[in-house]
Amino acid sequence: MPMKLSDNVKQRVSQGDTDLLYKTREWQELREKILLRDHYECQRCDGHNGLGKPIKRIKLTKANTVHHIQEVRDRPDLMMEESNLISLCHECHDIVHDRTVERFNKQKPRLTEERW
Ligand SMILES: [Zn+2]
Repeated sequence: MPMKLSDNVKQRVSQGDTDLLYKTREWQELREKILLRDHYECQRCDGHNGLGKPIKRIKLTKANTVHHIQEVRDRPDLMMEESNLISLCHECHDIVHDRTVERFNKQKPRLTEERW
């Protein structure tokens, strides 16, 4: 069964009321589905993800956050898109969020490795 938000909710979320999205039953269901897909493990701590270089420490951390890879405010059309969602632990979510913002502000990806 497709999880579809009402147009009214979609519109309000697109306009910046992202809290509203997280309160919807549709989001709660999708969130559970993504966590299940990712085995309730943080996909960044796990070391393989689509978000760039894995961090050095490879460990399994319980995921408690489902993150929008392309943020809702940038791509509201992807707010319910499974391929745009990834399970993260709280710590990684904070880190990834900052990086995502940085990347979007710069518009194009840059090499993060600096060589001296
Ligand atoms: Zn993590």
